[in-house]
Amino acid sequence: SYRKGGYHAVRMGDPFAAGRYIAQRKLGWGQFSTVWLSYDTRSANYVALKIQKSAAQFAQAAVHEIELLSAIADGDPSNSKSVVRLIDHFKHTGPNGQHPCMVLEFLGDSLLRLIKYNRYKGLDLSKVREMCKCILTALDYLHRELGIIHTDLKPENVLLVSTINPAKDPVRSGLSPALERPEGNPNGAVTVNINEIKLKRKAKRALAKIASRRDSMGGVPSPKPERSLDGINLQCKIVDFGNACWADKQFAEEIQTRQYRAPEVILQSGYSYSADMWSFACIAVELATGEMLFTPKGGQGFSEDEVCHSYFSFVLFSLLGSSCLNDGASGEDASEGKVIHTPKPMLEVEGLKLIAIGGARSKDYFDRHGDLKRIRRLKFWPLDRLLVEKYKFSESDAREFSEFLCPLFDFAPEKRPTAQQCLQHPWMNRGNSSQKESVEENLDVGMSNLRINVAK
Ligand code: ATP
Ligand code: MG
Ligand code: MG
Repeated sequence: SYRKGGYHAVRMGDPFAAGRYIAQRKLGWGQFSTVWLSYDTRSANYVALKIQKSAAQFAQAAVHEIELLSAIADGDPSNSKSVVRLIDHFKHTGPNGQHPCMVLEFLGDSLLRLIKYNRYKGLDLSKVREMCKCILTALDYLHRELGIIHTDLKPENVLLVSTINPAKDPVRSGLSPALERPEGNPNGAVTVNINEIKLKRKAKRALAKIASRRDSMGGVPSPKPERSLDGINLQCKIVDFGNACWADKQFAEEIQTRQYRAPEVILQSGYSYSADMWSFACIAVELATGEMLFTPKGGQGFSEDEVCHSYFSFVLFSLLGSSCLNDGASGEDASEGKVIHTPKPMLEVEGLKLIAIGGARSKDYFDRHGDLKRIRRLKFWPLDRLLVEKYKFSESDAREFSEFLCPLFDFAPEKRPTAQQCLQHPWMNRGNSSQKESVEENLDVGMSNLRINVAK
């Protein structure tokens, strides 16, 4: 893609904006751009320079992204709303054309990298809560104050923030000394995060080893050192507004990455802020378990269409939850969840009818009787059970976490809690000592992780 209309080739040390920014190293890239760690000679700080492809449609997309990012920055002078900050923008002319450039606040690694780094094992709930707080703060701001829908929330688009200053601590920050700032005296707090975490964990493991050696001499066995990010105050910010839109000025019918896509988007019956809330809930579960929530196990040889069908039915069954079992659907115990048959007709299910009626794509998923096409039987695993049985959560942790999440997985978009409501939820505001056992059983949980049997 390094040709006319495509990416701009950058070398270390290249100057931008008449020498104000000096490229240091590549941070990442996407369909639209490459992103470079750069040194801002004016503010004596590191920044992320997003250099867009030059062809008309990419330039157009950049204009749009800059418009949204400017509104975001204008409405948040203290930069406290957990959204990436646009610092500057300009155009850069190179051999492949004229490239719109965005100068962004320099952030750390994505939550996807953090999940991978943690070997897909899930983070402590206290850490999940910290990240949820940041994401919800950002969403509340975008939705309620600005009228913006992000439309592509996923772990890749949430980046960590830390307090490492690469100028003072280039090794910990992941900057090799060779790439250190050319001059000046930067004092801004910037980051590359995984390195910091690695070092702290290493130190912790060493301490635990010493402690366990001491214990083995004293007789009391010490608990196995757990994989935790203790002492690291995790914060994150939302990035990538290339697909974002104003709620009252939407562009695309099909939004979101499939695993984070809300049912009203699948059926194309119109969407709003609540579509972001759906994706948020998917991210929260993924952070806690280390695995994507909605990933039907389609075999090889499934077409894209079939994958979409399994995905959709996966989501549907998650939402039917126990009400489906109580409706006399036949259930048989299985090692992982229960096998249940689809209720007939599916479209009588409350909430689903609502979004299916106006859905441009409803006919692709439902037959004329209102039954789900193709899929007849699924395995059903309510979220709280899934958390306990598969991911070994304590009963109380699982119950409380799923009470927080389940309303976000409502079919009816307008019934989903808003970001503001989520921020006020007891789960968000509880302390981190989570062993308090509550007596009441909540069997109303309508979430599950399912295995799909596609009836071909
Ligand atoms: P996409 O195809 O996802 O739309 P894009 O071309 O719009 O990609 P971004 O997603 O904005 O580009 O950025 C690409 C990558 O660059 C990110 O995944 C991330 O790794 C890195 N990156 C982006 N912004 C920053 C930032 N502010 N600080 C540090 N790294 C960043
Ligand atoms: Mg992206
Ligand atoms: Mg983008």
